Amino acid sequence: MANPLYDTLFGRHAGRTAPFLYLPDGSTLSYDAFLRLTAQYAHSFRDAGLAPGDRLAAQVEKSPQALAVYAACVQAGIVFLPLNTGYTADELEYFVTDSGARLLLCDGAKADALAPVAKSAGASLMTLNADGSGSLPDAAKDQPETFETTARGGDDLAAFLYTSGTTGRSKGAMLTQTNLLSNAETLVDYWAFTENDVLLHALPIFHTHGLFVATNVILLAGAAMIFLPKFDQDKVIETLPRATTMMGVPTFYTRLLDDPRFDRALTGHMRLFISGSAPLLAETHVAFEERTGHRILERYGMTETNMNTSNPYEGERRAGTVGFPLPGVELKITDPDTGKTLPQGEIGLIEVRGPNVFKGYWNMPEKTAEELRSDGFFITGDLGQIDDQGYVQIVGRNKDLIISGGYNIYPKEIELLLDEQPGVLESAVVGVPHPDFGETVVGFLVAQKGETPDLEAIAEAAGTSLARFKHPRKLIVLDELPRNTMGKVQKNILRAEYGDLFKPA
Ligand code: ATP
Ligand code: MG
Repeated sequence: MANPLYDTLFGRHAGRTAPFLYLPDGSTLSYDAFLRLTAQYAHSFRDAGLAPGDRLAAQVEKSPQALAVYAACVQAGIVFLPLNTGYTADELEYFVTDSGARLLLCDGAKADALAPVAKSAGASLMTLNADGSGSLPDAAKDQPETFETTARGGDDLAAFLYTSGTTGRSKGAMLTQTNLLSNAETLVDYWAFTENDVLLHALPIFHTHGLFVATNVILLAGAAMIFLPKFDQDKVIETLPRATTMMGVPTFYTRLLDDPRFDRALTGHMRLFISGSAPLLAETHVAFEERTGHRILERYGMTETNMNTSNPYEGERRAGTVGFPLPGVELKITDPDTGKTLPQGEIGLIEVRGPNVFKGYWNMPEKTAEELRSDGFFITGDLGQIDDQGYVQIVGRNKDLIISGGYNIYPKEIELLLDEQPGVLESAVVGVPHPDFGETVVGFLVAQKGETPDLEAIAEAAGTSLARFKHPRKLIVLDELPRNTMGKVQKNILRAEYGDLFKPA
């Protein structure tokens, strides 16, 4: 019976002895071995009472077994719900309860702490440890190594993924089989993946980037991955000679650039480096090309839509842009007040439509109706503009827009200026409540190693090149910017911590 996502990504590799995963201990897992394990897990989930359409929440460390849980869910028609391994028991309670998960899978070390969470959510609890042991593997080891794949259609939910929570509470995005498949198909083609590729995979698999972008692309291409539990610089340097491609968040690339071992000799054989999930600094772009001769390919996606745009594989990869809308994805820039499409070059909301766009937010009908228009366009919440060559540029988040004394201020414009100042490594600009202006501009700076930026000189530079209402009222030097696991700057934390700066005494 048909199950397009399983059949296309997994099932067609049955019996194939080619490597799927290269593991840090030097061992290899073939496609065939992976799929036999998948079938055993699918049996165990069914024995545990999970029916097609039920949700399985998994807070597990990255491992081949954790990936087989994803595959088993697809095979048995269960909706896979991966959760950030950093969430505490309290945080997890919200996700497990909100999602109505029937089963919670966690690391054995967390089982005691999470038992009450599972109980109050009415979910059963199973364990899976990073070394592949646990109650799930115990239950699965005597199961048959084939499983009759559950029939599912393109419109059926395949996964349920919570957004990163950068701008507020995470929202559960409902993703269908078609959402995931259409994107994988487009990306394999666009980025020219083949069976011969070996992807260096050091991303988490609870997020769209590591799970749906990286993993689904590799499965569809029938390629292999060097599967590292996390971004470990030594391991990345050690395994890079066997890779052909790498996908990462910008912090991966800045950390590699800090390492003198990372040079042309190590990267000359590579086909492609891809970056996303957060903006890649122009400085990183340039330094990377100088060091390796490779131009990083930057692309733009999100939990709700997978991938929207990408710089071209062949053709100019333009720094500071996220490239063109992918084939099949329509993208427009609209006026936040009127919803009308804006002329080329103007800044507005980025809206996208296509087979990649999700079904809606779980349990949030109002939010879904607000952001998912009836004509199928999704209002991403990102602000952007399109340049004269059609490249999309992200200007920031709509929620980060600063409105000071009635003027709209895009933090990115000020950040770009601050980033260029002597001694400054990077910056973040936020709006802080102000009694006269509603909000006013505050700039946070991180110094380059061993440097002390001259704040007065920077204020002066900002004063001469920016209109008065955009001048940062205050510049604050921080050791580092608050970031989440995907390397995204958490401006809400800065706004909360510095919200009282201009409060009248
Ligand atoms: P939440 O929606 O809960 O606030 P989030 O938007 O950070 O969190 P994700 O879906 O993980 O959750 O991230 C998608 C967002 O990441 C995009 O909307 C965009 O703001 C940002 N992003 C992704 N790729 C890029 C990129 N190449 N450049 C700039 N921003 C990017
Ligand atoms: Mg978002």
